[in-house]
Amino acid sequence: MRSKVEVQLLLQERSMALKEVSSRFNSLFDNSPLSIQILDRSGKTVLVNRAWKKLWDLNDEYVENFVLKEYNVFTDSLLAQKNLLGYFERALQGEVVQMPKVYYDPMVNGKEGRMRIVRPLICPVLSEEGHFNELVLIHEDITEQFVEVENKQFLAGLGAILMESLDYITTLEQIALACIPFFSDAAMVDIIEDGEIKRLVTKHQDKTVEKRLMELVTTFPPKLDSPQPTPRAIRTGKPELLAKVDREIICRHTYNEEHANLISSTGLKSHLVTPLIIRGEIIGTLNFWITSARRPFDEKDIHVAEAICRFAALAIDNARHYRDAQNAISQREDFISIASHELKTPITALMLQMEIAQTIIKTDEKPDRETLQKIFDSATRQVERLSSLIEDMLDLTRISRKSLVSENKKQVLFREMIEDVLERFSSQFKSRGIEVDFYPLDDVYVDCDPLRLEQVITNVISNAILYGQNRPLEVSMQVKDGMAICQIKDNGIGIAKQNLDKIFDRFERIHSATDGKGLGLGLYICRQIMEELSGRIYAESAIGIGSAFFIELPRS
Ligand code: ADP
Repeated sequence: MRSKVEVQLLLQERSMALKEVSSRFNSLFDNSPLSIQILDRSGKTVLVNRAWKKLWDLNDEYVENFVLKEYNVFTDSLLAQKNLLGYFERALQGEVVQMPKVYYDPMVNGKEGRMRIVRPLICPVLSEEGHFNELVLIHEDITEQFVEVENKQFLAGLGAILMESLDYITTLEQIALACIPFFSDAAMVDIIEDGEIKRLVTKHQDKTVEKRLMELVTTFPPKLDSPQPTPRAIRTGKPELLAKVDREIICRHTYNEEHANLISSTGLKSHLVTPLIIRGEIIGTLNFWITSARRPFDEKDIHVAEAICRFAALAIDNARHYRDAQNAISQREDFISIASHELKTPITALMLQMEIAQTIIKTDEKPDRETLQKIFDSATRQVERLSSLIEDMLDLTRISRKSLVSENKKQVLFREMIEDVLERFSSQFKSRGIEVDFYPLDDVYVDCDPLRLEQVITNVISNAILYGQNRPLEVSMQVKDGMAICQIKDNGIGIAKQNLDKIFDRFERIHSATDGKGLGLGLYICRQIMEELSGRIYAESAIGIGSAFFIELPRS
């Protein structure tokens, strides 16, 4: 028999142990990241924890007044509709029941927020009497994992699209289509071309709305400085999220009322724009619109949109590389055919002159020295022509190694160098009747590789002779902002404005390619030389009036 004191002590210990268990339970219950709801046998809610309120986005008042007082799982029509009540019955028999995934869309209850996916587990609680009087319903929120897996599958699908076509417009269309309806109701691709925003792709699941979206961009085209989200994303390089679009927001981002009305007529509810970026350069945007009653975009969607953008940018980048490679191949082919033609012309002439010379030597007992001299002069010119063509070709390979200009620069008197080149052309000027006016400047020295600078001046003067229609030439010098400039101005055929920059490109010949005048490499090489000399070469011209070429480099 225990004494009264002993019994009291025992009771005290028990009560303390109970308190400890209960406080441990409360701590676990309240701080659990899993949502927990305790139900009694009849289906009424006894207790819910904090995570439960957060999961279903319900406040304390609602829990007090409705969930704990009125709600009953067995009368929940949604659960009944989805045939889920049987799981609770089974749990009441003592079985731990894993329920299938439940999709919960807050919109059903007129609430905002993301759709959630939960995995419920029902655990029966055994009472002291050996009955299952209570159920513990645990909800694990698997939205994130689920969305992540879905997004991964979606993005993997986009990766596969990239492999399907070499035509990037087709690829971008496929990417836009893949986004609908998984990610948005409409997807559009814009790129910047010649300083303007150009729409490449417009897709919407409803063809009538798609038409309206196309009309929108043609009637009210976004400009780089206009108020729409697309130009803003281009200007900032950051995504633009208009989570909930209403009339006021539409008005803020449009040109006028008609523009706003057209957008409203598409039913736009949420708008997300992400910039398309290739190696740090913003090349356009991807536009996603929600026009249906689905959930609006939120911050989390930006990551998905950015991932989609990376695929789109990759498609464009691949296509550009492919196009550049194709251009390079066709340029090279053109070059080979021009080069063979150009090399063949002097060789044919040379062979002809050799034959004539041979015949004269063989048949004439006293060959005419003057005739022979003329033949040899002409042959020498052909050989010089050949060697200059070959020199151009060699320079082309030197350019790729950036080794056109010698490291050891010399200080030269700019005037003297120009005079020397003019002197070398004097017989040509004379034979063609070209008048040359030279306006030199004294005391202007430049640091350069003399041979290369001479090559540039020679090239420009020989072009001035070729295309100058034998009209007067003007060569002048000036010094401006520490730069020494030589201007060579002809009054010849001139160059069209759109070709002015092209003539400095590789293999570019604006005038007939079969006139035996070069490989279209001369000015390209000149530009590379001038760049290596920290200077520049550029031209001004007008068709039928003439051209002026400027050779500019730092004064010593
Ligand atoms: P190439 O090596 O074939 O002589 P260049 O690179 O020197 O070619 O010149 C490129 C093209 O620029 C020429 O084919 C010609 O069409 C144009 N061009 C160059 N200089 C002049 C000029 N002074 N007047 C008109 N056209 C010119």
